[in-house]
Amino acid sequence: MPELLDIVGQDEALGQLQRALQSGRQPHAFLFAGPEGVGRETTAMQLAKLLLCEAPVKRPNSGRLAELPQDAPLLVPCNRCPSCVTASAGTNPNLILIFKELARFHDDAGVRRRKMQELGLAVIQRFLIAPAHMTSFGGRGRVFIVRQAELMSVEAQNALLKTLEEPPAQVTIILLSTSVEELLPTTRSRCQVVRFHALPIDFVAKRLEASGVSAEEARFWAAMTGGSLGQSLHASQNKLFAFKRDLVGALAGLSEAKATDLAELLVRAMGEQAERLTKAAKTQDKTADKASGDAEDEEEGEDSNLAATLANRLAGQTILSLLVSVYRDALHVATGADASTGAGCHGQPVLAAGHASAENTTQAVTPASASTHGQAKRQPDHGTPGPATPLIHADQKTLIGTIARRSSPLALAELLGQLALYEEMLWRNVNIKLLWDNVALTCAATPA
Ligand SMILES: [Zn+2]
Repeated sequence: MPELLDIVGQDEALGQLQRALQSGRQPHAFLFAGPEGVGRETTAMQLAKLLLCEAPVKRPNSGRLAELPQDAPLLVPCNRCPSCVTASAGTNPNLILIFKELARFHDDAGVRRRKMQELGLAVIQRFLIAPAHMTSFGGRGRVFIVRQAELMSVEAQNALLKTLEEPPAQVTIILLSTSVEELLPTTRSRCQVVRFHALPIDFVAKRLEASGVSAEEARFWAAMTGGSLGQSLHASQNKLFAFKRDLVGALAGLSEAKATDLAELLVRAMGEQAERLTKAAKTQDKTADKASGDAEDEEEGEDSNLAATLANRLAGQTILSLLVSVYRDALHVATGADASTGAGCHGQPVLAAGHASAENTTQAVTPASASTHGQAKRQPDHGTPGPATPLIHADQKTLIGTIARRSSPLALAELLGQLALYEEMLWRNVNIKLLWDNVALTCAATPA
């Protein structure tokens, strides 16, 4: 995990935090807002380490953070004290990560059964509010980091208000959220909001290349995720690039007679992706169970059914996102809105946001962000291309041109609207095979 000042692309946030830490009026609650996979959780963990450090070190700025004076000292953790060492190892008892899957470790069986739906009152009460009021180990205080804070229920947020407003001494709470507007205004107003931004596409692509991904694929995922390093790293491990190459080829050569082939390609890709998600979830479950020493045998059957359905839907959403991205590119070409040279565009992430984060891969099989809270988020701005957007599928530009020439911009915009409806249907109880047949038929039947 990178150190605090090694976090890239978020200088504004780092500058704001340094100012807050050195102001003498350090806030007790932060809200880190911004897209998945751009460094919110990493920054939160490093900030927590710094807050718990026994002997923080001052380092000269020397231009590291442009918005602070050259000679302003920057605070960093010492990395040597027991608190730093345990924080780095993920075993510091005063650094507490709150996430919705914690429900499975709750003493109450009813709470355990409702796990993974939201961050409910029981979890917030048991794992945040109660320990916040206990004396910390070693007296260094406590830092709580809440993942996906927007999933906190209204009751949970109301219960937390008092702790946010008047936290016990030396307690800091950091809420992480991709959609701040879903939090209660009363929760938001009690936190200092720190904004994190999408990273430049070129930067993300270079980092991906450095991890061994081909230049072509690296650029694709960087653009596809709208500049999310975490999502890109995760997606590039999923072997979906070969599928997307096939998909663009199939769409370029699509006719009504070939709709069945397209449906088969989509169903197969969904099945393979669902399998990968299920495997990843099982590995995580084992790790979590080991960590808690809790076997939870009686709920396993129910869980695996739930997990299988979710894996299918999340996989379906990823596949549909890729399909949508092809037609969005085609629409950009058809309306002349693409800019092959425009680098660093912060386009809206098209990959199912919040499901493919490298920071938290458990999200890949969790329902809440999709079922109740995800509606507003999963509405990409179909049909309204921004100014000079670079193509996502730049590696298959010619084929995108072929798709663009086959239909009018209006027909393409209508098709994108249709695909958005299918995306909604994916989360209802529909026959998934039938859904893909319809998707393929709709694509094949799009008029000129
Ligand atoms: Zn330290």
